[in-house]
Amino acid sequence: MKYLSTRGGVTSIGFAEAVMMGLGTDGGLLVPESLPRFGPDRLRELATLRFQDLAVELFAPFVGDEIPRADLVDLVERSYAGFSHPEVTPLHEAGGRRYLELFHGPTAAFKDVALQFLGNLFEYLLQRDGGELNILGATSGDTGSAAIYGVRGKQRINIFILHPKGRVSPIQERQMTSVLDANVHNIAVRGTFDDAQRVVKTLFNDLDFKRRYHLGAVNSINWVRILAQTVYYFYAWGRISHGDPERRVSFSVPTGNFGDVFAGFLARRMGLPVERLIIATNRNDILTRFVDTGSYAKGEVFHTLSPAMDIQIASNFERYLYYLMDQDTAAVRALLADLEQHGRLRVGADRLQQVQADFAARAVSDADTLAQIRETHAASGYILCPHTAVGARAAADHADAVVLATAHPAKFNEAVSEAIGREAPPPPSLQGLMDKATRCAELDADAGAVAEHMRATLTVAP
Ligand SMILES: *Cc1c(COP(=O)(O)O)cnc(C)c1O
Repeated sequence: MKYLSTRGGVTSIGFAEAVMMGLGTDGGLLVPESLPRFGPDRLRELATLRFQDLAVELFAPFVGDEIPRADLVDLVERSYAGFSHPEVTPLHEAGGRRYLELFHGPTAAFKDVALQFLGNLFEYLLQRDGGELNILGATSGDTGSAAIYGVRGKQRINIFILHPKGRVSPIQERQMTSVLDANVHNIAVRGTFDDAQRVVKTLFNDLDFKRRYHLGAVNSINWVRILAQTVYYFYAWGRISHGDPERRVSFSVPTGNFGDVFAGFLARRMGLPVERLIIATNRNDILTRFVDTGSYAKGEVFHTLSPAMDIQIASNFERYLYYLMDQDTAAVRALLADLEQHGRLRVGADRLQQVQADFAARAVSDADTLAQIRETHAASGYILCPHTAVGARAAADHADAVVLATAHPAKFNEAVSEAIGREAPPPPSLQGLMDKATRCAELDADAGAVAEHMRATLTVAP
């Protein structure tokens, strides 16, 4: 399979090159030249597979002949061996609703599903083709810990994660700083998340530094993250339909950067019988407004009870625009130029009709998020994390929609206590966390200081 950029400036590169490139060198997002299409007979077969075997079948057409099948099997098996549930992403029924639990990985949030595989894949490609990778990123919470757990202890990879000192939740901070592997480097910067992100951007824009230190990113723009997230849509469909290709299933997806719900969109384009895809947002409703009006307009960012969804511009949205504009990269560039110049873009009435056929969307307030946690708990004893609660509330009129449960509730116990007056018990991966030893540097929110720290660290690191 070959890949190209949504902006047309990168064409016909292979799978391994697309993985290592991350963001397209023209600033666009990488997408495959074509998608495999699974017919009824193939769907019936896929429906019977365990999660890992399904992942291999779904990855194989995208990998092509670049990785031998036995190696791909090994990568997939190792990636999901650390999940605490034998089904990896089990369905759970509570209060008449199905939840697809994506939080049984090492950091108790759905980003593990993709990042455990991406970390192993990075290591495999670097060992095979030579080279090294120094991952640099800023986090306000979930992504940082999932990225660290994805690459801890891996050969030829170091990871530097900046977080704003004292401004991430105690559990999230501990999840990151208690990883003591020699290739993991946490930096608490004195400042806000925006300050930390500015430092990271400055260092990526220093092309000489970027090349010399082999900088790479693990944000949600890497194609493999999307690919890995298609697996659980197929898996859930298989468990519900028992392979009946006439059985269509709806999903409600707590959405921030549009990676997770876009994976559902792709699964449908590959032939999966998906009825309705609901984009569930919190008060940061740029995507809901787009589905309602066809206008995608930047607003201010509000802090909510579902912080992993507090975003303004959804980084994977460009991939959807590419498909919406019938894979016309010039049309994508024109829309993005509008967004750049005027802070918004707008699609015409016929395209809007397509958008509304592809997605439903609903924004959910913090008050309704708490009400949902309370109601679900009262009805069934099941405790939702606030992101999952947004997904359940957005699907209120669709009782049969599967809600993607994106984090374990114990990661967000402040919201949980506010809703039901007690905390959710921690899963094994979060137990004893606050007693563990930690390692973390503390620096000013200054690109020069962080660059110097990286230089010093890398001269002694493995
Ligand atoms: C990242 C995250 C989301 C949002 O997913 P996107 O792919 O960015 O849309 C939702 N819930 C939780 C718990 C997350 O960590």
